[in-house]
This record gives sequence, structure tokens and C-alpha cells, in this order.
Amino acid sequence: MAWVIHQKHGIHLPQIGWSLDATRRAERAFVSHAHSDHMARHAEVVCTRATARLMRARLPAKNRAEHILPFGHTEQLTPDCTVTLHPAGHIYGSAQILLDHAEHGTLLYTGDFKLHPGHAAELCATPRADTLVMETTFGLPRYVFPPAAKIIANLITFCRDTLAAGATPVLLCYSLGKSQEVLRALAGSGLPIMLQSETHRLTRICAQLGLDFPVHPEFDPATHAGHVVICPPHAPGLLKRIPSPRTASITGWALDSRFFHGSQNSAAFPLSDHADFPSLLRFVELVQPQRVFTVHGFAKEFAATLCARGIEASPLGQAYQPELRLA
Ligand SMILES: [Zn+2]
Repeated sequence: MAWVIHQKHGIHLPQIGWSLDATRRAERAFVSHAHSDHMARHAEVVCTRATARLMRARLPAKNRAEHILPFGHTEQLTPDCTVTLHPAGHIYGSAQILLDHAEHGTLLYTGDFKLHPGHAAELCATPRADTLVMETTFGLPRYVFPPAAKIIANLITFCRDTLAAGATPVLLCYSLGKSQEVLRALAGSGLPIMLQSETHRLTRICAQLGLDFPVHPEFDPATHAGHVVICPPHAPGLLKRIPSPRTASITGWALDSRFFHGSQNSAAFPLSDHADFPSLLRFVELVQPQRVFTVHGFAKEFAATLCARGIEASPLGQAYQPELRLA
């Protein structure tokens, strides 16, 4: 019998009684990474050491039972099912979960993932699985990211030009993941960098977990001149303390011209911690699943793309429809 997969506030697997990235409190949940849309105050969690540490910092909870698994280490989850975590390459400590059930076969759930190597995440793995549940945030053909090295080179030029003009480059990055990626990517540039307070706090935790960073003092309005500032996209309080900021969005959505023209920012750089469209296809090729369920972003469209290639696929929550092949 196949895996039964329910989607409501995350993913639930009734056959084994575990949830995956549940967004409401669950008795037992795998947490793929410590982004707020992937976690809640669960009673019992399976996750990596980094995710457990970051979860404690972002979503403290009393009496949460943590089962911390190193990557590649297989354990019994239920009497009939084993669990193995594999790197997802999305942010530091992010994991995919591979379940191997005596009756239902193997199921791989990716969480958020990125196939290309990033600067601040482990290299994404591609274990074989019968059933694949994958995120498809950028599941349309128009999302093809330029090489990261080229984006970083452009970003460094933006920062140098802005500083030379006597202004302050402000890089708008999510506090966990993108900020550490950009900080490490700028390491060789010699640019002095300051971090917004929450970004600074999370970066220190990543440093304690073993990531190396260039010098990164916390933002100080008195001494910030001449520095690049990294701060989250919604930190208007900090921006008010910078006399002449030039803001730049750092996000995969920067590929959409609508995104840039609708924003107040001076620049946008399409550096993402998700897989782009070609990487999504490549990932499916490598995992070689018999059936695929898509979640997040362009789930319906990417499932149709897979069906057109003869792969059984459907957006999670909708039955497989072979006529999608005609789409
Ligand atoms: Zn995420």
C-alpha cells in the first residue's frame, strides 16, 4: 500500500503518526529547518543539531523532546519505519527526511532545498526514494538563476560603488540563512560589514555551531559609516538611523521584473536559497521516484511539467490526474 500523505498546517503521515514541518503544534514532528513557516511548539521533534539549537533561540518551548540525528545516520522511528536525515542545502543545518517503511516503501520529503552549493549550508544530498514530496517554490521555467559567483561579483560592485559615493549599502536579507550566506560570500571582498541585532544574534549561534565568518560587529549608528549593513527586509527602524541608505534586495524573486519595479530599493540580486527550475528537474532525475507530490510555490505547474515528462506527479492535496500530461 502506498504512503498516505495529508496536507493541513504542514504535512501529516497518518500511517506512522508523524508530521513534517507542521505549522501548528503537533505531538510528533520532523522540523526540516528553523524558518518560522516550518516550525511550531511541538511536543516531540526530530531534527538536526543546528536546527534544534536555532529552534531554541527562535521558538523556545519547555519540555520539548528533541531527537537530534546526525546526517546519514539511520534510526528506528516506529516499529515498521526507519528515519535518516540528509542535507538539504537550504540554510545551515537544513535537512531532508528519508523514511523507509516495511510496507509503504521509501518516502523522501525535501523541506526547502537548494541543489547548487551555497556559502553557508551543507551540500544538498539526492538519496533515491519511491515517493518524493518536494518543494517547488520556483517551479516555473522562467526561474533560472545566474551563476552565484556572478551575482556575488555584482553585489560587491554595488557595495563598493555605494560606499565610494558616500552612501551606505544596506543588503536586505532574511536574518537566518540568507544573511549568513551573504556574509560568507563577501568574506574575500575586504568590505567591512555590520549586522542588524537579530541577524547578529543568529549569526553568533551559527558561529558557535561551527561556521566561520568574517568580522561582523552589530550595527552601531555612531560608527556605521563606511560599512555594508546587512538587515532583514522589514526593519524600518534601522533604516531611519542611516542618513543615506541604498537598499538592495537579495532574493530569487529579483528575477521577476515586477518585483524590482514594485519596490523602493536601489537594486535587487537574485541570490536564492531555493532550487531554481532546472535544479528542481535535476533533483527529480537523481532521486528517481515512482511518484512525486509538490508543495509550495508553483506546485500545480511543476507537477504538470513532470507529468508531461511521463512522471506521475501531483500537487499535494490533489489526486494524480494523468490528463495533466496534456497541459
Ligand atoms: Zn526556508
